[in-house]
Amino acid sequence: MINVTNIRKDFPILNREVNGKPLVYFDNAATSQTPQQVIDVIVDYYSNYNANIHRGVHALSQEATDKYEQARQTIQKHFNAAKAHEIIFTSGTTHGINLVANGFSSLLKKGDEIIVSAMEHHSNIVPWQMLCERTGAILKVIPMNLEGELLMDVYHTNLLSDKTKLVFCNHVSNALGTVNPIKEIIDAAHKVGAAVLIDGAQAAPHIKADVQALDMDFYVVSAHKICGPTGEGILYGKEEWLNKLPPYQGGGEMIAEVSFEKTTYAALPHKFEAGTPNICGGIAMAAGIDYMNAIGFDAIASYEHELLDYATEQLLAIEGLKIYGTAKEKTAVISFNIGVIHPYDIGSILDKLGVAVRTGHHCAQPIMDFFKIPGTVRASFSFYNTKEEIDVMVAALMRAKGMLE
Ligand code: PLP
Repeated sequence: MINVTNIRKDFPILNREVNGKPLVYFDNAATSQTPQQVIDVIVDYYSNYNANIHRGVHALSQEATDKYEQARQTIQKHFNAAKAHEIIFTSGTTHGINLVANGFSSLLKKGDEIIVSAMEHHSNIVPWQMLCERTGAILKVIPMNLEGELLMDVYHTNLLSDKTKLVFCNHVSNALGTVNPIKEIIDAAHKVGAAVLIDGAQAAPHIKADVQALDMDFYVVSAHKICGPTGEGILYGKEEWLNKLPPYQGGGEMIAEVSFEKTTYAALPHKFEAGTPNICGGIAMAAGIDYMNAIGFDAIASYEHELLDYATEQLLAIEGLKIYGTAKEKTAVISFNIGVIHPYDIGSILDKLGVAVRTGHHCAQPIMDFFKIPGTVRASFSFYNTKEEIDVMVAALMRAKGMLE
């Protein structure tokens, strides 16, 4: 059970006002808010042990190194990775995907096939298109239905073949909230010998993924969606794959020996961590995960589903409101439009009333093209939101509708 009153006390930002109204923050799918416990970890880092890691013999450097490597272990444990060095610190999901896409440049040849889903974030489309341009590989797309569910028959029957080398899919769609059948996607891809990258950016706030049970080859996550800081994230990769991929960036930290004749690379995870990392970011990411685990992912999921069901019912009572993404398996994300009113206009009026939602194509233009709309209003809920806040949003929407229709 979630004690939302107590939880809200942990988030100082939830006390602020916007445009003279109490903030109602429903843009959690873009970035979650940060609890005081994580803010304290950041302050502690810069107040007490800020130093560069791995190379120093002095106390601060060793302390920072220990905390950074402990953070890697916390994240390893959270996602149940077999080894700590299978967790690569990145600047976020986008970085992780680009690292893998870049690595596959040397492993693909003309005519090889890559499969993506129709409901990807641009960051899980564009790097693969760039990879196809470099290698001559062909990109194929798993289509979806009007509910926002992938057509798995088409995936199994028409798309997967012995030419398939890679499959990429998000665990949860950021624009629709659909939870995709990733275990089925992964197992089928492995049967034809293809590697699978799952984009966990939107799943991580709601679902504790077990990377060994799910058996994906790569999983990517951003810290700022799980109560952590921006500019930080992880790539999980199976050891065998991370050993096969070449380094992404060259520089300090990622080498074993350097001479002008030849450079050899460091072992995992350092091979993929060139330069000074976001040390505080990694430590604070683990603190965010610890915070969420202390509440419990089962409790989070069940409370957020209550919010989702309540909000869906309240929103559908508004005349002319249409929800995009009505999959059976959904997280607490609702994309909608009211009649032909532009989502931006609704978002602007909601902002004046203190309600923060996202409007636009949500970095998923192919989804908007599929539904033949310019964009949607997206309300995304977190475990610190309340039904009362949903009521405030619904009242604000009624006001916006009255002004704009
Ligand atoms: N993938 C999905 C499904 C997302 O929702 C997002 C961000 O919203 C990303 C990737 C990109 O994440 P980041 O900007 O943190 O790299």
